[in-house]
Amino acid sequence: MDKERIKAAVREILIAIGENPDRAELKETPRRVADMCEEIFSGLTENPESHLKIFNEKENDEMITVRDIPLYSVCEHHLVPFFGVAHIAYIPRDGKVIGLSKLARIVSCFARRPQLQERLTTQIADFLEKQINPQGVAVIIEAEHLCMTMRGARAAGCRTQTSALRGRMKSDARARSEALTLLASKQR
Ligand code: ZN
Repeated sequence: MDKERIKAAVREILIAIGENPDRAELKETPRRVADMCEEIFSGLTENPESHLKIFNEKENDEMITVRDIPLYSVCEHHLVPFFGVAHIAYIPRDGKVIGLSKLARIVSCFARRPQLQERLTTQIADFLEKQINPQGVAVIIEAEHLCMTMRGARAAGCRTQTSALRGRMKSDARARSEALTLLASKQR
């Protein structure tokens, strides 16, 4: 990542909004933003397959659900955060399951780049489908978008929900309803 270029660009933005980038409190801001970009956009260069740890658990073809995987991403339209949780359910095929902590790493790998919530949701579902070939997979993401809540509509607390269903989660009504019940929002 070209951090010098980010620093120069942030300095330009500060000037453009009418700030003085040489003011003592702002002096380190371009460097801080550049360091932060390296972290919050690290998914651009990370290979999600490096987080795959596949186990073989024969006899286990029951649905596996993981709720409330924390998620922080950056809206590619406004470059401000959207954040929330991802819920994943899948039905393994031939006992092929993935390490639970790895699911969180995979979510974070696809989240740490300029992103859209809809695309993030389908990328995670497609990745899991391709890598472990499950009988079905469902990914649901609930997130708050700062571009909606701190500007524009100012719909504070409003969360957007997206979902991607593959395989039996799409074609088999019972599997789908079981997954959606297990993944459904808790009563607030
Ligand atoms: Zn946005």
